[in-house]
Amino acid sequence: MRIAFLGLGHMGLPMAKNLAAAGHQVTGYDVFPAAVDAGREAGLATAESGTAAVRPAGASGGAQVVITMFQTGRQVLDAYRGADAGEGLLAVAEPGTLFIDCSTISVDDAREAHALAEAAGHRSLDAPVSGGVVGAENATLAFMVGGSEEDFAAARPFLEAMGRRVVHCGGAGLGQAAKVCNNMILAVSQIAVAEAFVLGERLGLSHQALFDVASNASGQCWALTTNCPVPGPVPTSPANRDYQPGFAGALMSKDLGLAEHAVTATGVDARMGMLARELYARYADGPGAGQDFSGIINTIRDQSARAGEGDR
Ligand code: NAD
Repeated sequence: MRIAFLGLGHMGLPMAKNLAAAGHQVTGYDVFPAAVDAGREAGLATAESGTAAVRPAGASGGAQVVITMFQTGRQVLDAYRGADAGEGLLAVAEPGTLFIDCSTISVDDAREAHALAEAAGHRSLDAPVSGGVVGAENATLAFMVGGSEEDFAAARPFLEAMGRRVVHCGGAGLGQAAKVCNNMILAVSQIAVAEAFVLGERLGLSHQALFDVASNASGQCWALTTNCPVPGPVPTSPANRDYQPGFAGALMSKDLGLAEHAVTATGVDARMGMLARELYARYADGPGAGQDFSGIINTIRDQSARAGEGDR
């Protein structure tokens, strides 16, 4: 298959490499010239513009599949439409091209992208991922996919070349909906686990004892057993390497911004999720900009110490 892969960043470049390794004819493109150079050095064919990557090239035809992996919904919609109407990806692609957007964006933006693609005579899926850069490199990502059954079936072999789990979540935008709901659970549970460890410290409970009990009891969750926020009990967790990400606080904050957008749009009473949104926004403005999101335990510990001093 001829695949145009746009957005050769932290996630996109290893994903594009895995597609090429699976035997597809991949052309990579990025607006950032250094990312294009990195793609070329990694052995990918590259194009001088996004539309050149997608546009029919002589008898061989154009891309049959267009995958985007950008930061924001605005970037996706601008690229689809073209900054100056007419030269967007949708306008230059051959009719019936399969557009797969893997960026993490709002449900509303994803639905708008679907509507634009459909109106232009193309097929389209939202397919955000979890698994981070390591998952992208090792082709072990999880894909959450929104769109029609037929388009999902057509995309499956490409997604499986980049990931280990591929779940069809329903119609347009529902891949993004699954991503936003999952990350809201994760944010709330990571804070709950961190608060419990700090409370345990104050009560004289060792980290290992709390871990041994909670990991085998009803407190068990990924935030504890994989991403344990204190060093020791889970040697591979970011806490053992000074909270190097992993999943940076800034990215969690971004995803919770998308959750807030969805919560506001639907009127759901999601107080825990919205408090997590506030705490992670503050954390991302400070140490969480570059640290793993489990490092929020240090903020909780510092604030607890400050509150304790205030009582004296
Ligand atoms: P990144 O910033 O490293 O890469 C995005 C790339 O897209 C950049 O190189 C940028 O120049 C390029 N780009 C933007 N507009 C473009 C356009 N019109 N044409 C071509 N290229 C364009 O970001 P990333 O870390 O790879 O993340 C990509 C997406 O995946 C984000 O939505 C993020 O939330 C999501 N995500 C990231 C992780 C992670 O661990 N990094 C994990 C899961 C999901």
